[in-house]
Amino acid sequence: MGTSPDDTDDKKLDDLDGLLDADDLDDLDDVLEGEIPKLVTQLLEEAVRVGASAIHLEPTGDGTIRARLRVGRALREGPAIPRGLERGVVARLKVLGRLDLTERRLPQWGEFTSKLETGPTVALRVVTLPGSPDERITVHVSLLDTSPVRLDEIVVGDGLEEIRAALDVGRGLVLVAGPRWSGADRLLEACVRETAQPDRAVVSIAETFRAAIPNVHQVVVRPEDGMDTAVALRAAVRSAVDVIHVHSLHDPEALRWGVNAGLHGSLVLASIPTADVEDAVLRLLEAPIAPALVVEAVSLIIGVRQIRRLCPSCRKRNADGGFIATGCDECGRTGYVGTVPVHHVMRMDGAIRRAVRSADPETIVTTIRAAAGTLRDAGLRVAESGEISMVDALRETPDPAR
Ligand SMILES: [Zn+2]
Repeated sequence: MGTSPDDTDDKKLDDLDGLLDADDLDDLDDVLEGEIPKLVTQLLEEAVRVGASAIHLEPTGDGTIRARLRVGRALREGPAIPRGLERGVVARLKVLGRLDLTERRLPQWGEFTSKLETGPTVALRVVTLPGSPDERITVHVSLLDTSPVRLDEIVVGDGLEEIRAALDVGRGLVLVAGPRWSGADRLLEACVRETAQPDRAVVSIAETFRAAIPNVHQVVVRPEDGMDTAVALRAAVRSAVDVIHVHSLHDPEALRWGVNAGLHGSLVLASIPTADVEDAVLRLLEAPIAPALVVEAVSLIIGVRQIRRLCPSCRKRNADGGFIATGCDECGRTGYVGTVPVHHVMRMDGAIRRAVRSADPETIVTTIRAAAGTLRDAGLRVAESGEISMVDALRETPDPAR
């Protein structure tokens, strides 16, 4: 980390001539200066401007490359890449990510940081996926310390106090329930930043290196080498650290070790890939983890969604009392700018503890909804404020009647 594109260029410049096939790119200089770097920079700036979490570059089969930006859950069309510059753009991203330019048959990943002229510094992870007619590229985009995610900026009201109270306890599990692109990563990162004080030992377990957080030791799992999440968790428990962040507790064994770590006195901050809070509780019981251990270990579960934000410049109230946005210059005629997080916070106490002890799924789901509401309730409250549309609130949150 911490390498600027310029440094990377200098470093790579010497090795590049040997790496490039004669027919690969007409002129290496094109990748290092001129039109192509400018195009890549514009692509990155556009991604940051619209609040995209990733750029997807996909070969279309007719020699062109389609650029799309992921904003919230959905992909939207990105800037067009002019004909003839496609391979240059891909090569430029591979150079920046320090990847092997000639390797197109095996997947690669690498990372770099870039200080954009528009202001922010971004951490970029380049992932290639070989295929036909050519490899596709994903560039994960995360803003760096210039604008660290703060818990009180993404969670408001009672939810914020409940999360802070659970973090203060300093032990047990705080789980964030949501599928990919739900904003779970962002919320967890904010929690990790809040707990990563100099008087605490904090480790973070994930599939890839992420933007560095001061005072957090990163562990990267490599299941192909036998170092999976459960193995890393066991080692973290033996290391007797105060806080363990796990990017994803996605399998039963990892869940059991996560609960174990919480019972051993660590604060475990983890995401669990379920639709909502109710499903997260059931997933723990199915692991299987004894109900008594679940209520003992888990302090809080937060259901999350990241929903596209209606453009504040062109949104208006529609006939049925909700809000819509018709598109303007500010939002590139799309009607949306960035995303809004929606949170459903459930504390493991009182009636919910008793329901979980019963181990009866129906009792558990009914009791949680009666005591803590649903993610959909939370989404509809945000829609009433006009930040998101009613249609998106309903589409992006699970139907409690399902
Ligand atoms: Zn607009």
